Amino acid sequence: MYPSIKQEELINKTIGCSRLVYNIMLSKKKDNSKLTSFDMIKEIPKLYNEYPFLKEVDSCSLRCVIFDLENGLNKYYKKQGGYPKYKKKGIKDSYRTNYIKNKYKNKIMKDIKIREYKCPKCGIEIERDINASINIMYEGIISYYKERYQN
Ligand SMILES: [Zn+2]
Repeated sequence: MYPSIKQEELINKTIGCSRLVYNIMLSKKKDNSKLTSFDMIKEIPKLYNEYPFLKEVDSCSLRCVIFDLENGLNKYYKKQGGYPKYKKKGIKDSYRTNYIKNKYKNKIMKDIKIREYKCPKCGIEIERDINASINIMYEGIISYYKERYQN
């Protein structure tokens, strides 16, 4: 199966939106080093006014970005790496797409009887019935990556 334009668009949108949120939060963190991950999560909905397209992607992806940033900052504090840098288009996209792929794979592996999904990383809860269409999307994304990387 080849991904429909829509699936590929959604993947690209998710990557683009994640990068945007990451960069905005990194800049806020640079302005105010006391900003916690929890503060940043609360900031995400405030971005919807300025960037309404953020509403089009899975909110879990956007929240999980904060935890990526937190991991980077923790590495820096432990002197295991440099201070997190702004993400540029195309650079480390493969990391992000892999991450998105794994996240969706974990979701689809859940027993269908479980009506709610809770992301272990960002703690967001998603009601399955409401998100039936999202599940179909995950299947599309998984087949897309199978085609792309396993052949
Ligand atoms: Zn999440």
